[in-house]
Amino acid sequence: MEQSEFQYEIINCQKCGTANIKGDVRCRRCRTRLKVRNPLMVPLVVGVGLVVVALLSGLAIYVIRGTGLAVPLALIMFFITSILGFIGGLWLLVEGFRASPIWGLGLIFFYPIVSILFLILKPDYALKPWLVTFAGMILFIIGALMIPDSFFEVINQFGGAGF
Ligand SMILES: [Zn+2]
Repeated sequence: MEQSEFQYEIINCQKCGTANIKGDVRCRRCRTRLKVRNPLMVPLVVGVGLVVVALLSGLAIYVIRGTGLAVPLALIMFFITSILGFIGGLWLLVEGFRASPIWGLGLIFFYPIVSILFLILKPDYALKPWLVTFAGMILFIIGALMIPDSFFEVINQFGGAGF
């Protein structure tokens, strides 16, 4: 008997309010895709994901730093960072104009400020492009941490600005 109670758990459609039965993918009346989401799921996945990324990054930095691979690998990561930054920025601009012409123009003329405001005020539009940019930033930090200090000493010997 307990099993059948579980099977007939009700999920209301977020659009038209029709009661659907748990397990339905789309609303029986309006065909909207039903959101069956555990509210704890997203923070949990993000949290575990961040811990895994941090551990793997730490391991990669520990293993590769000081080897001949460190500098070439870091340069490849910086290159990927710039590509992700470009894609994220362009995508954000497209989402800006999709949200409204004012957001789009704001992004063109005041990108550094408006891009952050856009993320805070319109996360539905801005979050995914921003995640691409963030991924690039994380790669940049990992790459920078991989490079051994001796690399900067060499640059300084050639008269580079002090790192
Ligand atoms: Zn519906």
